[in-house]
Amino acid sequence: MSRLSTELLIEPSIVRDNILELKNQIEDKSNFMAIIKSDAYGHILTNIVRDIDDLVDGYGVVRLEEAIELRKLSKKKILLMQGVYSNEDFLEACENSLDLVVHNSHQFEIIKKNNYFNNLWFKINTGMNRLGFEEEEFLNIYKNYLTEKKFTLMSHLSASNVPSERSNENQFKRFDRLSNKLHSEVLKSIANTGCILNFPDKSFDWVRVGIGIFGGYIGNSQLKTAMTLRSPIINIRDIKKGEKVGYDGRAIASKDMKIATVYMGYADGLPNNINDGTIVKVNNQDAKVFGKVSMDVTTVDVTNIKNCKIEDWCVFFSPKHSINNMASSNKLISYDLMIRIKSRVKRSYKKLV
Ligand SMILES: *Cc1c(COP(=O)(O)O)cnc(C)c1O
Repeated sequence: MSRLSTELLIEPSIVRDNILELKNQIEDKSNFMAIIKSDAYGHILTNIVRDIDDLVDGYGVVRLEEAIELRKLSKKKILLMQGVYSNEDFLEACENSLDLVVHNSHQFEIIKKNNYFNNLWFKINTGMNRLGFEEEEFLNIYKNYLTEKKFTLMSHLSASNVPSERSNENQFKRFDRLSNKLHSEVLKSIANTGCILNFPDKSFDWVRVGIGIFGGYIGNSQLKTAMTLRSPIINIRDIKKGEKVGYDGRAIASKDMKIATVYMGYADGLPNNINDGTIVKVNNQDAKVFGKVSMDVTTVDVTNIKNCKIEDWCVFFSPKHSINNMASSNKLISYDLMIRIKSRVKRSYKKLV
């Protein structure tokens, strides 16, 4: 008998399929930037880059360390999305031929001091109020320094996944109003995954796509989850109607039941507050979380699963069982589920054939 462990399997062929699907949605002239911050949303950045480099026009990351590591693997454009905060970091970014986001005047001081205006992306605030210049502030910089320069104007949507949300329209309006005041060679970028799918006419010159390429976008069944998270059953027991399962007795049996205990808990990165009833798969059949997630194990109702036994896999999500099921039934986001899996889970990466 081999040692039991929880596993996270990553399938790059699915990431590739998702990229092709998303590229179909945008205009031919739009460039495709794969956003691979946070270790490619948990999919192992170094491997992913090797396996998608021929399909994309560039990459976006947040940390300078990530960008430098990435530069050793790809000659494509690399955008450092948080920009730099010191002259040392600025010089290091230049040495590595990175594109830089400039989102406030503190950062622009560094650019000015070095009198270096290549490969810059100016981020403007169109309503998210997180990062980015205000319109007047940016126009001031533009008039003084950028009228003859090539650069990209960017912004980020706060609710691109909800097409009916008014903020989208308002953000597009503010983006258009400002970009219309700039010279015609300025490039534009506002689209993330949700924007591509809900507002495809806003793909402009660069799309910046993260969650979609990993199959975590809710509301599109063409995009497949590229991760499989599975854990073996380590115990099975029968309980009587009225008995309680797990901490605080949250789950109470409404009938006689069969309960499987699975070898994964919140110490492995499963959220502690997963609801009873969350669908998981055992032997390709639906089973349901029953009882609070513990540190090392989770209990699952397998009353209706045929031939269920110790060592069978309990699959939390996979290409055939979208991560969005767990996300939406628990008011969680797939982004968070992907990046929270801990290092004690055995991670493996399928070879691209
Ligand atoms: C993370 C991020 C993206 C990608 O967003 P998705 O919703 O994952 O497609 C795009 N732009 C910026 C600035 C980001 O931080």
